Formats: sequence, structure tokens, C-alpha cells
Amino acid sequence: MLKKFRWAALLAGAFLLAGCMQPASMVNAPERTKRKTTFAVPRVQINISQDAHQFSSPHFTLYLKRELDALRQFASLQDRVSYGKGLILQLETYYIHLKNTLGYVVKEPVNVVISKQVGQVFSGGFTTPAYATSADPDYGNKPTAHFSPKSAAEVSTLIHEVTHLLDYAYVGKFAPPWFMEGIATMIENDFLEGNNRRRKEPLINEAGVNLLQKWAAHRREGNMLPDGLEIEAYNHSYYILSELHRRYGDDFYIKLFREMQKWPDRRLNDGQLVDLMSRVTKTDMRRVFENEFEFKFEDPEKKSTQTTTQQK
Ligand SMILES: [Zn+2]
Repeated sequence: MLKKFRWAALLAGAFLLAGCMQPASMVNAPERTKRKTTFAVPRVQINISQDAHQFSSPHFTLYLKRELDALRQFASLQDRVSYGKGLILQLETYYIHLKNTLGYVVKEPVNVVISKQVGQVFSGGFTTPAYATSADPDYGNKPTAHFSPKSAAEVSTLIHEVTHLLDYAYVGKFAPPWFMEGIATMIENDFLEGNNRRRKEPLINEAGVNLLQKWAAHRREGNMLPDGLEIEAYNHSYYILSELHRRYGDDFYIKLFREMQKWPDRRLNDGQLVDLMSRVTKTDMRRVFENEFEFKFEDPEKKSTQTTTQQK
């Protein structure tokens, strides 16, 4: 019985964490290619497998799938060694950045997999250039991000997904999509010179419902917003999260993630998350969210069922 339950729980977990993917239209944003910050290449030990398909560093294990050998770029051992070393060092610089800005610390390496094509991921049948998942059954049920050579070469996509990856590894909670996507989009945009994509206006429909709160991002089931609106959901989430950063300072997210990590359940709904923000800022954040971002909270005494009914 226990075994069966655990299996069910794991399966449910896999669904819930079925990662994030960016709409293709966001991934190819040509304006955002210039780095704001330059980083020193970290001095880390890198181990390379004999056939140069697997690389390991203190915080990442990088897999170059065998199918890549068919591509000219990966055909020779030397090609794979220089590609893999370059990429894993880039990942280590992102790790340092995320550790400094969000407080993410990982004790066990997380996985990054490069395939010829990332392809179809979700049962809905749509494809994605890249995605991250908290538990990949093909990679030891560990946090794993998947890229194609093309999507891994896009700095904005790479750091966005790596943010999710380290979020899964460090915080390991199912926060509402607007929060998880807002964080990844904020990091992506703060890291790169680019368009300011922040959208201030709430996404309220005719019935007065805040669609951001109904957004299920790329989860396997539940609410997907129409394409154009989904991009606005990323942009509005980014606005909210960067506003909080601006108002409450550099250690706001570091403190918040520490609180989230201690949260006893695997899931936080909007009210629970915002209550943790109140604890960190010593401000009534429910009021801030209600007044400024037009959020609605369910009765705090009543456990929210909104997020649990969407997923199995
Ligand atoms: Zn994302």
C-alpha cells in the first residue's frame, strides 16, 4: 500500500513539475543578446567521459546525446570536448549568479541534456525548444533541463530554464506559475540587455477574473492561456516580481526562498505564498496584491482547491 501510494505520489509529482517551456516567439527575441554583466569563468573541476558525451562539474551533469554525433558540430571527439567544456562553464557562471541573487544552493548536481531536438514533451502534442522538469525519470528522477543545440545557444533561454532547474533543486516547491515564471523571466531580463517587457496592467477578463491567478503555465493539465495572452502573462509576472525586488531590496527573494524551502507542503497557493512575503517584509502583502495587482484571495481558513483540482 505504501509502495503504491509512493508511486502515485511520484507520478503526480512528475505531472506537476512537468516544467516550463517558453513560447517559441519569446525564445527568439533578437534584441536580448547582449550581456549586461560579464562574469569571470569559474575555476572548477570538469570531468569528461572518454567518449565526451558526459561532462560533470560541481553543480551540473551535462549529457550530449549520442544522436548529436550525426551533426557536423558534434562529429569529432574534439568538437564535443570543446562544446561541452564551454557549456558547462557557462552553466557554472549562471549558478554563481543565481546563488548570489536568489540564494539558490544545490548540494547535488542537476542535469542538463542536449538532444538533436527537444520535440514533443507534453500530452497536448505541442513542441518546445527547451524545458526543465524537477524529476526526470530518464535521469535518475533528478531536476533536468532539456535543450537542442540551438536553444542552448540562446542565452535568454538557457538562463531562464536553468533558473527553473535550480529552483526545483533548491526550493522544490510548486509555487503558482505567475511566481515561478516571473522569477525566471526577471533573471533572464536582468541578465541581458534588452527590451523592457514588463507589463503593468493586470490581466483581467470581462468577468473581472484575474487571469494571472488562473494561469497554469506549461503544466500538463489545467489552464493554458491563449498564445498572445500567455506572453502577456509572462510580462505581467515579470512586472510584479521586479516591483517587489525594487521595493523590498536585494535580499527579499533570498529570504523568501528560504521561507518557501521550509514550507511543509510541496505546494503553495497564492495566499500562502503572499503570506510568506508578508513575513519577510513585515508588511501586509495581501493588501498590496489586492490593491495594486488586483489579486483575489480565497478565505485563508479554507484551503484552496483551485490548484489541486487541475492536476491529478
Ligand atoms: Zn519558464
